[in-house]
Amino acid sequence: MEMNILVCIKQIPDVGGKIKLSDDGREIDSRNLGFTISPHEECAVEQAIQIVKAEGGSATVLTLGIADSENQLRDSLARGMNKGVLLHTENSNWNANQIAHAITASIKRMEADNGTFDLILFGVESADRGNAQVGVLVAHALDRPSVNGINGLEIEGDVALVKRDSDEGTENYELGLPAVLSVKDGMNLPRFPSLKGTVMAKKKPIEIIAVEPDDTGVRFLQFERTPEHSKQAVILGRGPEAAADVVQVLKQLELVR
Ligand SMILES: Cc1cc2nc3c(=O)[nH]c(=O)nc-3n(C[C@H](O)[C@H](O)[C@H](O)COP(=O)(O)OP(=O)(O)OC[C@H]3O[C@@H](n4cnc5c(N)ncnc54)[C@H](O)[C@@H]3O)c2cc1C
Repeated sequence: MEMNILVCIKQIPDVGGKIKLSDDGREIDSRNLGFTISPHEECAVEQAIQIVKAEGGSATVLTLGIADSENQLRDSLARGMNKGVLLHTENSNWNANQIAHAITASIKRMEADNGTFDLILFGVESADRGNAQVGVLVAHALDRPSVNGINGLEIEGDVALVKRDSDEGTENYELGLPAVLSVKDGMNLPRFPSLKGTVMAKKKPIEIIAVEPDDTGVRFLQFERTPEHSKQAVILGRGPEAAADVVQVLKQLELVR
């Protein structure tokens, strides 16, 4: 069965070091950072490309973000996705509810024009904020079957066979299509964009739609960092003279009487 697939990705800062916050504590100071997407989303993109290769159809990649997020869409197009959608905003007052609301509205509009997406894939959580909310909120709003944090996916006719690892073993599900799934890192080995893919991606279409956050009743106030505790080592003495103090500390910790 030909598959019409949508994958939602989010631009995040590519950080190897310490993250700095802006002066008002509301944003990550991204002036000296590069950008990427989360490994979960890379696996979702890879899975969509593999399914369309095997079954035929089309794979669309969507992001809601600033104009610069087009780079992450182009990266996915270079890997093999067919078209992109940028829900463009320069507003930073978005929360998971509002993002899910805008993505759902855009899916409904695209489906009215081009038919239903058989599969909508998300990462299980974004690698910066990690709310693990957007995918499940969209599934609920569209009233479609959904499994969160999957490690395996096969398409058989009009059903998706899904695996989800837990501490106790592997859960196996069957979902009727259309369905919404969120993907966990490790499900596959994402390909790198090839040089040919990167050149071809420049010609692939990206639709740009302006969006603004709705009032969903939830307002983010401020991020507070956990205070950093400096490590404190107290030298009780050296050699046998330290023994009495060591015993005293062990008594205080109630490890000896
Ligand atoms: C342009 C922009 C600026 C922002 N600025 C701020 C800010 O200054 N301060 C602040 O506190 N918060 C800000 N946010 C909101 C915040 O960063 C989170 O994006 C939001 O709360 C969603 O939660 P999450 O990223 O943890 O998503 P999760 O629920 O963890 O994401 C799960 C999955 O949903 C999908 N997804 C999530 N976000 C998007 C997206 N934007 N587009 C497409 N797919 C997506 C991805 O597949 C992702 O793997 C901003 C968001 C945007 C888009």
